[in-house]
Amino acid sequence: MSDYQETLYEGYGQRFRMDTLLHEVRTEHQHLVIFENPRMGRVMALDGVIQTTEADEFIYHEMLTHVPILAHGNARSVLIIGGGDGGMLREVAKHKGVERITMVEIDGTVVEMCKEYLPKHSQGAFDDPRLNLVIDDGMRFVANTTERYDVIISDSTDPIGPGEVLFSENFYQACRRCLNEGGILVTQNGTPFMQLGEVQTTAGRLRELFADWHFYQAAVPTYIGGAMTFAWGASDAATRSVTATTLTERFVASQIETRYYNPQIHIGAFALPQYVLQAIGKPAND
Ligand code: SAM
Repeated sequence: MSDYQETLYEGYGQRFRMDTLLHEVRTEHQHLVIFENPRMGRVMALDGVIQTTEADEFIYHEMLTHVPILAHGNARSVLIIGGGDGGMLREVAKHKGVERITMVEIDGTVVEMCKEYLPKHSQGAFDDPRLNLVIDDGMRFVANTTERYDVIISDSTDPIGPGEVLFSENFYQACRRCLNEGGILVTQNGTPFMQLGEVQTTAGRLRELFADWHFYQAAVPTYIGGAMTFAWGASDAATRSVTATTLTERFVASQIETRYYNPQIHIGAFALPQYVLQAIGKPAND
């Protein structure tokens, strides 16, 4: 039995015992590994960075989908950038009001290998008739599409390699162009304790583009270094201050079973630690 050592951070990282190596391949875009670990179940890593595990993926996928969709209240069309493992798609597809789901994933091998080796992530969601799966660079897609969306979810790798462009000003600008009135952009934006510069950079870009921008967070055990932040960009500030009563009504009406998300967690997630607020230049009561 060998170990898988994450290499995201110099001199600090997590190690997984690899009980079984299920698949390893250098795709056109990145190095992909999927293996079995006794505590975390099946684990996928790309270019030395843990992407998702069967044990804790629910936290991340529930928070990046139900928060914007329930805050929006009437999302009909959703765009997922990245998300090749299918977990984000699974959670979006639970919303019966959503009529159109576009998913733009740069690496078709990730989709194929996750369908085969991580079936619990997508749970058949790739067969959802509402899905339009596009294998392409998310940046190219949002720069050129004539489609409009109520919610855009950027479920990308870290800003290294193919994922780097998904943290650029051009990307956020193009996403804003693709949002309907009242639309919401949310993105994976790293763990601020370890990647505070990434949060600051995103804040500086969102500030110029969105009437309302902020971050929210959730602790995902295998995204090491503390809570992960999710960036939030919206044209309507009211979507970030939907009341617990309204969120509860919408959540109950959705009939969605969750293991992490609930309206109190939704509201609490937008409360940020002082060091993060200072880094993004926001007062505590924003
Ligand atoms: N949960 C993970 C995280 O927080 O780091 C992300 C998981 S998901 C597997 C990340 C996906 O983003 C990968 O499948 C990768 O191929 C995709 N990706 C990276 N760069 C992309 C790009 N420019 N356009 C579309 N998809 C991209």
